[in-house]
Amino acid sequence: MGKKCLDYINELNDYLDGEIDSSLCAEIEAHIGECKNCRIMVDTMKQTVKLCREGKEEKLPVTLENKLNNMLKERWEKKFGKQN
Ligand SMILES: [Zn+2]
Repeated sequence: MGKKCLDYINELNDYLDGEIDSSLCAEIEAHIGECKNCRIMVDTMKQTVKLCREGKEEKLPVTLENKLNNMLKERWEKKFGKQN
């Protein structure tokens, strides 16, 4: 089976920051290419990150990043059910 969507979600922050190695990046992109749910998630996260960064040039504070992660997970679980 490979990774679950939530595993990818956990890596998406790094992916959006460009802070992961290229093989993992390719893996995520391949998954996003074939998984509509994750594609929607990436778009949502991109928009959120963009909004946060437009107000401030700095990296998201860790607490905010964690909050965002939890929020996305909750939303995900509500929509698609628990995966773990
Ligand atoms: Zn997925």
